[in-house]
Order: sequence, then structure tokens, then C-alpha cells
Amino acid sequence: MKVSVVIPCYNEEEVLPLSHKRFSQVMSSTPYDYELIFVNDGSKDRTEELLLGFAQNDPHTKVLSFSRNFGHQNAVSAGLHNCTGDVTVIIDVDLQDPPEVIPQMIETYLREGSNVVYAVRNKRKGETFMKKFTAKLYYRMLNSLSDYTFPVDTGDFRLIDRKVLEAFKQFPEKHKYLRGLFSWMGFKQTPFYYDRNERAAGKTKYSVRKMFSLASAGIFGFSKKPLKLAISLGTLSIFIALAFAIWVFVMYLSGKESIVPGWSSTIITIVFLGGVQLFTIGILGEYIGNIFDETKNRPEYIIDKKINFDNPHQS
Ligand code: UDP
Ligand code: MG
Repeated sequence: MKVSVVIPCYNEEEVLPLSHKRFSQVMSSTPYDYELIFVNDGSKDRTEELLLGFAQNDPHTKVLSFSRNFGHQNAVSAGLHNCTGDVTVIIDVDLQDPPEVIPQMIETYLREGSNVVYAVRNKRKGETFMKKFTAKLYYRMLNSLSDYTFPVDTGDFRLIDRKVLEAFKQFPEKHKYLRGLFSWMGFKQTPFYYDRNERAAGKTKYSVRKMFSLASAGIFGFSKKPLKLAISLGTLSIFIALAFAIWVFVMYLSGKESIVPGWSSTIITIVFLGGVQLFTIGILGEYIGNIFDETKNRPEYIIDKKINFDNPHQS
């Protein structure tokens, strides 16, 4: 059996030497053949240089280097498109997910005969309250909006078998939310519980902007409910307007003149409706933007260098 490990890296010079050592130690202690596919996602530091150095001395280490930063999900996709193992593990380079649990995940895979073993975080050490809180809120929202139920406290750290990988390769969509796609696919999926550590070195490479982009890929890629929000909000405002009209009419009949100046109610109505309209147009925009991106059909990533792969011309 051959195990592929897909490891996206973006500006990770601080943690990379330690990571490469730990990944190599863990995988060489297993009875399986293996490959470590490091994907350099257009790093601006010495990440590529370090990776090329490791690859020179170790045929198990393979490197895909992007022409620029395409993002974490695209880096993982590139690794998946190029791996040759019977099973593939997706894991971050920063050692938050300890590579030492990979053999246990393989064991679970063999014992349960599952197609996917997804890692579930027991504890999330070294993460801010804000990150944990927003993550919890987000997954709850995603699950209530989407027709599918996604496991909570689960990132992209998982093991998938060939069958799942081949199915994944058939997906033509470019704007991917991988953890969602893998659980949407079905097959036999088994959770694997583990404790998440702090980043071994360096800082998070997920800026707030990137986090929002991932979150919107999840919601707008897996739910059409936001589109229907316009109908609910529209209905609500019609009812409010009707109630208001009835009230005005009653006041008029009762001969009270205090409603005549009424500019504040006019302004409130205009502002409220303006807000509702802009909000729903924004939602439409998100979907149309996604359609625009998909129809352009540009590649998800561009590979600049490909090292230690059997066929260096294939991409
Ligand atoms: N990463 C990447 N491209 C990016 C941002 C991040 O390949 O544009 C990689 C990064 O090197 C790491 C993984 O994605 O291996 C997760 O990033 P990070 O640990 O910074 O995110 P966090 O754990 O803080 O959410
Ligand atoms: Mg991390």
C-alpha cells in the first residue's frame, strides 16, 4: 500500500524544516510506501528553496510550486490531482494537526474499511476565543442553511481512499470548499478524534479576507437558501407596510392630525427598504460572481515547478 500526504505551504520557512523532519520520521516508520507532496502556494519567503533542498536528498519528497499564491484550497486540490497513493492524507504543514496520528488514521481506515477518515478536533489549543466562537457560529449557520449536514470541528485534515479521490477528480468546479465536498460525496465516512495543537512556528497564513472567502465558498456553494431570503424579506415588508397603512387610515378616521408631519416614518421606511434591497442584491451578486468565475473556466492554479514526479511534463 502506498500513502500520499498532501501538504500545502504558504510562507512557512519557520516551520518547514521541523515539519519535513517529523513527516519523514512518521512515514518512514510505517510499513507502507509513501510520498510527501509539498505544494508551495506562491510563497514569498524561502519556502520553495527549502523544499527544493529536501527534494534533492529525498525521493519521497515531491514538490509542486505555484506561479503565485492561489490559496489553500487550490493548493490542496493540486496535490490531490497529482498524488499516486492508494490512500491520501490532507494535512497542514504547521504541525497543528500532529503527523504522528497519521498511522492511527490508516489503522482506522483498514479496520473500519471506510473510504474517508475525517479528523475531529477534541481540543483546539492555542486558538483565540474569537476564532473558536466564530467557527462554532459559522458551522451552525452552514448546517442550518444547507440541505446537507456537515460534521462540526472538522477541517480539511482527513484520509481519503482512491475511490473518493477518483470521484473528486471528476469535479469540474473551481471554487472549492473541500471539507464540504468530501462529506457531500457520501461513501463510508469514519470520524477520528484527536487533540489539535498550537502552530509549531510562524503565524497563521489565513488572513481575515481568506477566512471570509472560505466561509462564503461554504455557504454559497452548498446552499440556495440565501437566494430565497429576498422573498421572505419582501413579504415581511409588504405586511409591515399594510399594517402601517391601516394604522394611518384609522388615525385619519379618528381625526387626529398628529400623523400628518410623519417625516420620520417615511425616512425609516425608505432606509429600511433600501437596506433590504441592497442586502438581497448583494446576495444575488455573490451567486452571479460565482457563476462568472466558473464560466471563465480558468485553471484553479498554475504550476511553475514540479519536482520528483515520475512524469515532469504532466501537469
Ligand atoms: N496556506 C496555503 N495558502 C494560503 C494560506 C495558507 O497553502 O494562501 C496553508 C498554510 O501554509 C498551512 C495551511 O494552509 O499549511 C493552513 O493555514 P494556517 O495554519 O495558517 O491556517 P489556520 O490553521 O491558522 O487557520
Ligand atoms: Mg494552522
